[in-house]
Amino acid sequence: MSRVLARMAVENAAVDLFERIGDFLREHHLSPDPAHYAFAHGVLTHPDSAVARSVRTLTDGGVRLSRNDIEKLGGQVRDGAPLGGGPGDRPSNDGLVAQTQMQVEGFTDMVQAMRVETEDFGRDLAARAEALRRLDMLGMSDVVQLTGSMIARVRTAETRLEAATHEASELRAKLEEARDNARRDPLTDLPNRRAFEEAFAASAASGARLCIAVCDVDRFKAVNDRFGHAVGDRVLKAIAEALSQTCAGHLVSRYGGEEFAILFSDVDHEAAQRTLNDARLTVAAKRYRLRGTDEPLGEVTFSAGLTCAGSDEPLASAFGRADALLYAAKNAGRNRLRADC
Ligand code: GH3
Ligand code: MG
Ligand code: MG
Repeated sequence: MSRVLARMAVENAAVDLFERIGDFLREHHLSPDPAHYAFAHGVLTHPDSAVARSVRTLTDGGVRLSRNDIEKLGGQVRDGAPLGGGPGDRPSNDGLVAQTQMQVEGFTDMVQAMRVETEDFGRDLAARAEALRRLDMLGMSDVVQLTGSMIARVRTAETRLEAATHEASELRAKLEEARDNARRDPLTDLPNRRAFEEAFAASAASGARLCIAVCDVDRFKAVNDRFGHAVGDRVLKAIAEALSQTCAGHLVSRYGGEEFAILFSDVDHEAAQRTLNDARLTVAAKRYRLRGTDEPLGEVTFSAGLTCAGSDEPLASAFGRADALLYAAKNAGRNRLRADC
């Protein structure tokens, strides 16, 4: 019987250590990263070590450990851990979103692994409690009580982990939404310049043959000046829609202002040119009218430059060429397309 009691004591100590590590991470605002976990584990399992003593001194009076403190004590602080560090420690917003997402994903995996473990542990305990209950007839009520309280603790831990898993998946969904919003233009709902740049990089890395077009609405300032910014916005949305439809299958982005960039992937230059010219003719053929008065806005057109990117050519270089072609099209009278191959 003493072997059973000894094993229960060991399991009890494990649950206790796990909870104390959790408290430590929470107290010092450390994410559940393995490096942080290892540091907390070292401090809590070797309370007489020099590191643990230093931690006690540094945190005397409820002070939180800083990034510097942990690193000086031989621990590692993962970027994105919300500790008080210097201004140089601050990652970019984008990096922060990516890091947080990675942390949430790591956290979710860890919590799920922990849930499985505690479930197994809980099942073990329940089975053992049942065995002990039978022995209770022999006067084992203390042991039964102890086991009962351990099962209750495990259940509480399970409930908390379940809630944490749920929160983590909600957070993951919100982060995915934030990542998507950061790559989408809110007015036209098209991918934005960042999305275009990322798509170019990804397609170039996969070895795809790429052509890029830069389109700029002609005399657009005059539309705003004559009819107001709100009407200008509606015209931009209509042009975005027309471009997306005509260039379906290719990446149409709002690169900025009244400028759209299109990435043609794995099509030959003539096909890209034909598609772009169709888009130009479609937009030029539309007859926009003011809501309410039905007053015609007149013709709205765009000019475009089209080029193919060489293999390994950086975007800036190919884009510069397309931009120069666009301005040649503007200078030649607008509502036209210039291509260089
Ligand atoms: P060009 O043919 O030489 O391109 O003439 P342009 O008038 O189109 O060029 P310019 O660069 O002088 O003006 C661009 C205008 O586009 C000015 C700016 O107010 C307008 N614009 C940029 N972004 C938006 C937007 O989101 N909404 C509206 N309504 N107007 C915008
Ligand atoms: Mg412009
Ligand atoms: Mg313009």
